[in-house]
Amino acid sequence: MDLICDLSLAEHYKSASQRARVLSEGWFARNAYCLACDADEVRATAANTRATDFVCPKCSHRYELKTFERRPRGSLVDGAFDAMMQRVLSRKAPTLCLLERTKDWEIRSFAAIHSSFLVPEVVEKRPPLGPNARRAGWVGCNIRLDRIASDGEVAVVEKGVVQPVADVRRRFQRFLPLAKKDVKQRGWTLLTLQMVRELGKATFSLGDIYALESEFAIAYPGNRHVRDKIRQQLQILLDLGVLHFSGRGHYRLSD
Ligand SMILES: [Zn+2]
Repeated sequence: MDLICDLSLAEHYKSASQRARVLSEGWFARNAYCLACDADEVRATAANTRATDFVCPKCSHRYELKTFERRPRGSLVDGAFDAMMQRVLSRKAPTLCLLERTKDWEIRSFAAIHSSFLVPEVVEKRPPLGPNARRAGWVGCNIRLDRIASDGEVAVVEKGVVQPVADVRRRFQRFLPLAKKDVKQRGWTLLTLQMVRELGKATFSLGDIYALESEFAIAYPGNRHVRDKIRQQLQILLDLGVLHFSGRGHYRLSD
């Protein structure tokens, strides 16, 4: 992976936004690999779809590219709310690829926000554009990165260092089975994982998670079987290999 973007690609473009698009897409097409399978390339989708979308020719995993000089941490501005929600509900959400670049177009970081972690709970509706806007009434969305467990973000390049491919794929692929689950069910699993991460412990007990019952009740008001649901989710996380039993009712996080 070469972290320097090919500036010659943008020679014939004047506008800053066009140059940014051409340079980042050119870099991605040349350097990105599929995280979801062993394909060593991803391809830009047909010209009639959004230009920043890429797809794996082997497993059809989708990627949406976003480039920043400083990437957002808490909340990511995305496109139309209805379109994104539709993609999430129909299990066609893309993995969001956040590139961070220097002024001279060197890639500093590349973080992949896993498509399996995009559930309705993280897609936030923005207020409609005002009556004087060119697209008055249009409703966009924010992706609430602060509601995504740390496992949902996989570093491909971190602080200018390319991460080992096998490691990146292992971290990414263990969450692929979640994509097959219904989004409601997935929301519970992901919230449980987020709570486990918030405990900040490598080993924890069922009681530690039960102590956070009120957080689940806020997210899912009216559910009378929160503890049953939590135990189900822990079993799913065990099946995924994210957690392991560590004896005496304790669980351990894998690395
Ligand atoms: Zn693939």
